[in-house]
Amino acid sequence: MATETPGLQLLVTHARLATLGDEPDLVENGALLIEDGRIAALGDTAELTARYPAAERWDAAGQLVLPASLCAHTHFYGAFARGMAVPGEPAANFPQILERLWWRLDKALTLEDVRYSALVCLVDAIRHGTTTLIDHHASPNTIDGSLDVIAGAVQEAGLRACLCYEVTDRDGPERARAGIAENVRFASSQSAIRNSQLAATFGLHASLTLSDETLADCVAAAVSFSSPLLAGAPPSSPPLGGKEGGLGFHIHVAEDMADQEDSLRKYGKRVVHRLHDAGILGPRTIAVHCVHVDESEIELLAKTGTWVTHQPRSNMNNGVGVAPVEPMLRAGVNLGLGNDGFSNQMFAEMKAAYLVHKLARRDPRAMPGDMVMRLAYADNARLARVFWPDLRLGELCEGTAADLVFLDYHPTTPLTAGNLPWHLLFGIEASAITATVCAGRVLMRDRTLLTLDEESITARSRELAAQVWKRVNEQ
Ligand SMILES: [Zn+2]
Repeated sequence: MATETPGLQLLVTHARLATLGDEPDLVENGALLIEDGRIAALGDTAELTARYPAAERWDAAGQLVLPASLCAHTHFYGAFARGMAVPGEPAANFPQILERLWWRLDKALTLEDVRYSALVCLVDAIRHGTTTLIDHHASPNTIDGSLDVIAGAVQEAGLRACLCYEVTDRDGPERARAGIAENVRFASSQSAIRNSQLAATFGLHASLTLSDETLADCVAAAVSFSSPLLAGAPPSSPPLGGKEGGLGFHIHVAEDMADQEDSLRKYGKRVVHRLHDAGILGPRTIAVHCVHVDESEIELLAKTGTWVTHQPRSNMNNGVGVAPVEPMLRAGVNLGLGNDGFSNQMFAEMKAAYLVHKLARRDPRAMPGDMVMRLAYADNARLARVFWPDLRLGELCEGTAADLVFLDYHPTTPLTAGNLPWHLLFGIEASAITATVCAGRVLMRDRTLLTLDEESITARSRELAAQVWKRVNEQ
């Protein structure tokens, strides 16, 4: 089986290649050559077979091959919440969901729980063809070294992830400082090596759990961080704290009205204005959700080049509202699609995005399929370049990363490059995925995982989750 071994060539043949990209094409009976983690050639099967006779072959047997999915915001640490009974009355609003579910679960995590939470999410990501993930981690009783544990799992899986630790004041100043230190420590450990699998950013929980003092400490730590690898990254504008090369941030923004009410009450300004004044916004910063932002905040997000990520399944589940995605896009805000800890099945997130805006606006023209597709692939790939400036993801052509997903999908209506979004939204299910490739390495073939032992991970996860639930109930 092909791996990342330099020089090794793997030729995928007899595939129906959906290239996406600026000039999307559907190549029937297509082939692509994988070399050194990238697509070295793409074209007709007969032609490429003749040109590369020595390459190892992989006959796709007419399967549809797409660029792998990307996830712009997730939480590996939430994996054990599946099926967990939350003690007490059901949460009636978003702050209660945080207090009764997430802030109990994350306090109960040990380092082994952190590792297995990540592993089960990574199994899920490979199964569903999602190879690039931007994670946001919390484990307040075991902060130091937690990002290394996740990084180890990511490397074992063979996937790609950008990691950070969420700094918050909710557990006192000592843990806020420990969170800052963990972000800086992990980013420093990554700064010396150019790594196509791992990247770092600076995590913050949300405005409502961060004092001005802590925000200032975070900005000071992020600004003073410098890495030669960030030299090629897009410059902050205005420069973060006046210095180029610092880390950007990854923070939940106005997910619920409670975040805005808290900011207005304590600081007399709306969340996005507060974060801007603190030096948080910029083209390397991700503002997650932005459900309750007004026109002035949208303008500021666009002006600063700040990234916003949209997670419709999470927003629906928490009953927080519907993000103004189309107004943000019209204003020129950079927008990506994440899953907020829901399954790493980005097709499901795309379907939710496609449906919820139509219902909320009672307008079937809202959030058209090609717009959803652009968010999930082209825009998420642009966001990934903030962390991996050398990588081109989300499309198939010569020079792009060999991140692929194979689908056993045989459409009952004509499939073209132009109508692919609607096949993805109405026809293609994640159950059609048979193979996943990340950076040229085959992680799943014929629905069998090749890098992770799914059975033992599942068994250990069930044991650990039961213990976590017990500790949650004892809190
Ligand atoms: Zn989140």
